[in-house]
Amino acid sequence: MRCDVLLIGGGHAHITALRWLKKHPCPHKKFKLVNPRAYAVYSGMVPGFVAGHFDRSEVEVDLNRLCVEAGVDIVYDSIVDFDPVVKTATGETGASYSFTQTSIDVGIMSAPASIADRKGYLTVKPMSHFVEAWQQDSGNLSEGVALIGGGLGGVELALAVRHKMNACGLPTSNPLAIVDRSEILSSSSPSLRRALCERLSEASVTIIENTQVRAHENGCLMLDSGQFLTAQLVLWTAGARAPGWLEKSGLETSGGFPVVNSCLQSISHPDIFISGDVASLQKGHIPKAGVYAVRQGPILMQNLIAKLSGAPLQDYDPQKDYLKLVSLGARSAIAEKWGHTIQLPGLWGLKTLIDRSFVQD
Ligand SMILES: Cc1cc2nc3c(=O)[nH]c(=O)nc-3n(C[C@H](O)[C@H](O)[C@H](O)COP(=O)(O)OP(=O)(O)OC[C@H]3O[C@@H](n4cnc5c(N)ncnc54)[C@H](O)[C@@H]3O)c2cc1C
Repeated sequence: MRCDVLLIGGGHAHITALRWLKKHPCPHKKFKLVNPRAYAVYSGMVPGFVAGHFDRSEVEVDLNRLCVEAGVDIVYDSIVDFDPVVKTATGETGASYSFTQTSIDVGIMSAPASIADRKGYLTVKPMSHFVEAWQQDSGNLSEGVALIGGGLGGVELALAVRHKMNACGLPTSNPLAIVDRSEILSSSSPSLRRALCERLSEASVTIIENTQVRAHENGCLMLDSGQFLTAQLVLWTAGARAPGWLEKSGLETSGGFPVVNSCLQSISHPDIFISGDVASLQKGHIPKAGVYAVRQGPILMQNLIAKLSGAPLQDYDPQKDYLKLVSLGARSAIAEKWGHTIQLPGLWGLKTLIDRSFVQD
């Protein structure tokens, strides 16, 4: 049966969209969420999960409960094909979902497609796969770990891995490296970069810049620079790709990501809305960070409802900067906004409080 609004993916934007709907019920319209699982991973707590501070259940939002409370049907499936003209999406279960309007919030994938399923590599995005794989693969860290990509997420993960290694009784000399094809933390402010580089040095994380991975064999990572690293496990945080089915769907894209106007509506297919990391905003680049997706959600839901009745849509206006609370491996964090970085003892507590209230809301 055709639904009025098909929500594809339980990403950060759809979580806050569903929370808005819960508070502003729309009983005469039929909404359906398609997501592979009943839970969605909250990225801000993943470094803490890797470090061993949180269980998996503490870092996941219960989509099932949220959908029940918002009056939305939920189906566990993964979309593999999408036709924006006929207005159907097909799941890997073979089920077909037809819709009047749809909203896509499926996140991105790290690592090139050629790497994605290779043994020895663990791609950090999609995060639900990563969290599951980490539970299975993190038992033996004694043969070295390398992280590909030195953005904020990669640095937080490296510090978390070192904390986990220490907690497992491994010496600080146990190999741990970040490899970046340019400079690490190149999008961060100088003060944050300085503070985090100090932490990486204290944690004996080797930083290798301006080179790329050539191959990974028998626990050895070979780089284009000619260097070799001991790394049984390689965590791939670098890179961002849209899912293949979305890229080939016929929606207008930029760099593979569907382009949306300021109402989060596809510029080529106005009944299709896209949000979160996978959307490319026509009016300018915004960072791929959960805080942007979270703020998009309520506007997205109001626009989906308004569009059904032909009412005017609202503009999403991204914030210029946001408070970054960056975890440092142990139960500590630093904060940065507008280029100013502060380190205070209570920041980990504040971060945990904010993160937990998002997950449990
Ligand atoms: C280690 C790390 C730490 C981070 N920490 C922060 C932080 O502290 N603050 C911050 O702002 N950002 C942080 N980020 C960035 C953040 O992860 C992303 O910006 C955020 O997850 C984007 O959310 P989203 O809404 O695009 O979708 P996602 O959160 O990526 O969720 C996508 C959802 O869609 C589902 N899905 C995927 N494919 C399909 C399909 N084919 N069919 C149906 N469902 C599908 C997935 O299962 C998932 O539930 C971090 C990133 C990393 C790597």
